[in-house]
Amino acid sequence: MSRKTVIAGNWKMNKTPDEAAALINEMKPAADKAACDVVLCVPYVDLPAAVEAAKGSKISIGAENVHWEESGAFTGEISAPMLNALGVQYAIVGHSERRQYFGETNETVNKRTAAALAHGLTVLLCVGETLEEREKGITFDVIAIQLKVALAGISAEAFKNVIIAYEPVWAIGTGKTATAEQANEVNKFIRDTVAALYGKEAAEETTVQYGGSMNAKNAAELLAKPDVDGGLIGGASLKPADFAVILEAAS
Ligand code: PGA
Repeated sequence: MSRKTVIAGNWKMNKTPDEAAALINEMKPAADKAACDVVLCVPYVDLPAAVEAAKGSKISIGAENVHWEESGAFTGEISAPMLNALGVQYAIVGHSERRQYFGETNETVNKRTAAALAHGLTVLLCVGETLEEREKGITFDVIAIQLKVALAGISAEAFKNVIIAYEPVWAIGTGKTATAEQANEVNKFIRDTVAALYGKEAAEETTVQYGGSMNAKNAAELLAKPDVDGGLIGGASLKPADFAVILEAAS
């Protein structure tokens, strides 16, 4: 079993290019010491500065979304070849904020995932239930559909470049973290679903992260769980001291 632990930051709509470069420079020493993979996903306009600042360090840079077409009349969108041209290696796809505020569906998540993989990006595929869905007892059904549709037509070979992030919507930015048991339970379900789609071996090798108010205080407990292979970190990835603690906990 050789699955990787990956800690990824999601900066959301925060930081200018200069601020991004300064923050990355501040984070480099802790990242270089970490025994896990380290990714920072930053706003599109910050990408060139971030790639430049991260050069020669353990930090890889990711975008927060990616369009499925290579070019064309898609105002406001960015394509995978554009990200390739900047040296960007990762892209978040299907974040719940995209689903909630910008009309992202499981079908568009599938198209974005396929395009990103076809252009050599590693995809951080986000899935997760809302509070209402959890209370109705349909968490597993929701996540199974999100995964099956997002991964429709994705080959086993291409899937090797997919990391799955379990992000319960009720835990994102709310300070309300899933318990380590809740996170592990859903992460295990995700791994079982991957096993049904791609086989047991692929499932064992897939990195399944937890995301949603992961911070310096709760990271160690979450990351100690057998099916939690890293984190997708919002708020705490903007705070170098906190992010360093999380990297240490993952190492
Ligand atoms: P949070 O965000 O850590 O601020 O809850 C996580 C995410 O949205 O990926």
